[in-house]
Amino acid sequence: MRRHRNVKIVATLGPASSSYEMIRALFEAGADVFRLNMSHGVHEDIRKRHEIIRQVEKDLGRPIGILADLQGPKLRVGVFANGEEELVAGAAFRMDLSAAPGDVTRVNLPHPEIFAALEPGASLLVNDGKIRLTVDTCGKDFADCTVNVGGTISNRKGVNVPDVVLPLAALSQKDRGDLEFVCELGVDWLALSFVQRPEDVIEARGLAKGRAAILSKIEKPAAVKAYDAILQVSDGIMVARGDLGVELPVTSVPPIQKRLVRGARAAAKPVIVATQMLESMIESPVPTRAEVSDVATAIYEGADAIMLSAESAAGKYPVEAVMTMNAVAMSVEKDPTYRSVIEASRVVRRESVADGIVAAAREIAEATNIKAICCFSQSGTTASLVARERPHVPIIALTPLMSTARRLALTWGAHCVITPPQDRFKGAVLAAVRAAREDGFATEEDQIVVTAGVPFNVKGTTNILRVAPCDERLISRVDPE
Ligand code: ATP
Ligand code: MG
Ligand code: MG
Repeated sequence: MRRHRNVKIVATLGPASSSYEMIRALFEAGADVFRLNMSHGVHEDIRKRHEIIRQVEKDLGRPIGILADLQGPKLRVGVFANGEEELVAGAAFRMDLSAAPGDVTRVNLPHPEIFAALEPGASLLVNDGKIRLTVDTCGKDFADCTVNVGGTISNRKGVNVPDVVLPLAALSQKDRGDLEFVCELGVDWLALSFVQRPEDVIEARGLAKGRAAILSKIEKPAAVKAYDAILQVSDGIMVARGDLGVELPVTSVPPIQKRLVRGARAAAKPVIVATQMLESMIESPVPTRAEVSDVATAIYEGADAIMLSAESAAGKYPVEAVMTMNAVAMSVEKDPTYRSVIEASRVVRRESVADGIVAAAREIAEATNIKAICCFSQSGTTASLVARERPHVPIIALTPLMSTARRLALTWGAHCVITPPQDRFKGAVLAAVRAAREDGFATEEDQIVVTAGVPFNVKGTTNILRVAPCDERLISRVDPE
């Protein structure tokens, strides 16, 4: 089974997508990575979804990435007796410390530190800024507000207070517990919410102890400012437009998105564009023109992955949403303009032998009739370098490590194949040729490019490039041991 596109699709799981049948259908429709949002759902739900994903992976024989998204110091309202309420403009609404379920007049906001910092006149923004309240009066355990922009408010919706600086640690007690839980469960990526400084990332990495790669969600003005330093200590990036567009003017999001995507591409680290990509598909089986255009823009920018949030977690049309992203990706990627845009924004970096090898692999593939670039990669670094080249032929990443294959599920264009550890170059070429043919990338008449490091199993030694025929008889004859 192979994808006919390079950009990857991340689908958030939730109540609308927790059965085996649905998760399998999402994967078959095109989801490459599943996101488990630790802000919603108890550990038992997370454990079940994790188990189902691994079962689908086993049944379909393709590595699947799992990204656990830690809540971070996100402020959220409590729950409502009816699950949700409709707030209308002009109405009064109270937030307080009482744990009693909310109604149309009030709800719990379990954060004493907000009440301590709030002042009359401050704005409270709910649900990625869709609902807006202004504080009229407040005390140490309540805030009486007026609704400026109404809407449906439901359980555990996020709250932003852009006017007030809140003293919050990057990882809460809950985050630490969640981190340990998901690392023990076995996830491939940990997403950190509300990162503000490189130290936040380093702290999480210390706790993860290599069990998962670390992805920084950029959603705070401070993180945008410190982006280069944060990128350097992260394994991947998410342009988390929901909170970003609340914390900063919404019009500043597109230029920031461009800058973040470019930066991550240059660093050969995967970058996800997230939030509201197909928002109307929560309720509708078809997207708006503007949403299709937004998804297309992220792909033209060369993002590694595009993401579904509520569309797949809590919407009515999860599979249709994935199919839509898949269809947009296929349409964009066959546009000649896409190739020229990607080529114009290619990062040229020639600092190591590996840089030179991957660039040569792309150039050879582009100048001749090569069907795929196959790279042997232990840690996934070489595959990421090949992906940074954004070649126009498929990338097949061969690795003996399931953990590497799963992490690379997020990387642009990487089709991962698990192969036994190789110790001879000829064996490696044969394994690459077989993988390319078995997964439908090449036939016996075709040629592929193979990159590897000889001797094998030494980290960071990509030093060989071979143009190999896909006819196994020819390989046996000409290749050195
Ligand atoms: P974040 O800021 O981390 O993105 P979020 O609240 O925006 O958090 P998303 O995962 O982006 O959450 O999903 C968007 C919406 O979909 C949520 O606000 C929630 O209403 C719904 N949702 C997502 N996952 C779940 C879940 N596991 N259980 C219940 N509702 C969910
Ligand atoms: Mg967020
Ligand atoms: Mg969200």
